[in-house]
Order: sequence, then structure tokens, then C-alpha cells
Amino acid sequence: MSKIYLTSVGKFKKKLLEKAALLLEERFLYEFKVVGAIPLPSQALDPSRNQYLVSKAIERLKKVMPKDAKFLLGITAVDLFVPKLNFVYGYSDFISKISLISTFRLNPEFYGETACEDRFFIRILGEIIHELGHLFGIKHCFNNKCAMYFSNSIYDLDNKNTFLCDECERKLKRASSNYSPSKLSEFPENNDFI
Ligand SMILES: [Zn+2]
Ligand SMILES: [Zn+2]
Repeated sequence: MSKIYLTSVGKFKKKLLEKAALLLEERFLYEFKVVGAIPLPSQALDPSRNQYLVSKAIERLKKVMPKDAKFLLGITAVDLFVPKLNFVYGYSDFISKISLISTFRLNPEFYGETACEDRFFIRILGEIIHELGHLFGIKHCFNNKCAMYFSNSIYDLDNKNTFLCDECERKLKRASSNYSPSKLSEFPENNDFI
């Protein structure tokens, strides 16, 4: 059975990924495996912005995609961007089945708040679930409580649940039981998701 892999890109607390993996296994009924960190791809760094370009970081992740991986999710502590956007919390490449999530703006300390590992963890979990939804082919949802709602700010992110709404949950069940690359034709216009 194929597994869903989590890996840190650059330095990141492995314990947080292991904790997330346990919860995700219960939710998604897949085996989640945390594997060793890969280094930050220096070619992805844009020194003028001090941010990393997602597409180049994903190229690096493609090289370590395990053979039995259904999906690979990279988690990084550095700030990520895509052209035309100031930053992204996460990004999913549906074709390569790889997501990358940045915890840079999920950390309460980024907003001048006191460190809170629980809050930090819930935000990370929510972001992982959101990007996993995209990897299963689910697009953004208009329900602002649903995990598939597009978060433009930390307020949006904290306001929504780590759970999917009933409709997205149904889509997820359908997609996770019959996932097949031939279904790509259902997503013709754009296969990348933020
Ligand atoms: Zn939804
Ligand atoms: Zn999204």
C-alpha cells in the first residue's frame, strides 16, 4: 500500500511532524511516514526577498520522492513565495503529487505573540490537511470554516477548522478511494494549488 510521506526541508522539529503523522493517519486512513530532513535548496532562495521560490524547492523534493509514495509533503520553517504573491502558506503540485508548507507565518512569534506550541501545531496541521486536500484534487471551498477555504491571512487560518466540510469530505472520500492519474482530465485548467 502506498504511503504518504512527510519530510522537513531544512531544520524543523521532527517531533511535531511525528505528532501530525499520527493524527493524519486516523483522519485519512493512510500510512504516514516521517522521513529524514532534506537540505534547503539554495538555488530556490531569492536574496532580494529573503524568501524561497516554491517551484524550485519542489524540484528538489521531486528528487527524493520515494517509489511507494502516494504523496510527499515537505515542511519548512523558511518563508515561501510564488511569482505575483507576497507569500504562500503552502503549495501543491497535483501532477508531481508533492506539497510544500511553510511554517514561517504560522508561528505565533512571527506576529509578536508569545510562543505557543499548541497553537503553532494546530496551524501546521490545518495547513497540511489543506494541501493534502489539494493533492487529492479538491479545490478551494467557499465555506470559511472548512479546511479547504483559501486563507489569505492568519485570521482566516485561525477562523477555520482543521476538518473539511461535509461536501469536501465527500469529495475526499471519493478521491481517496478511486484516485487515478487518468482523472486528471477533471482538473483541466490548472493543476497547481496554493
Ligand atoms: Zn469545504
Ligand atoms: Zn489552497
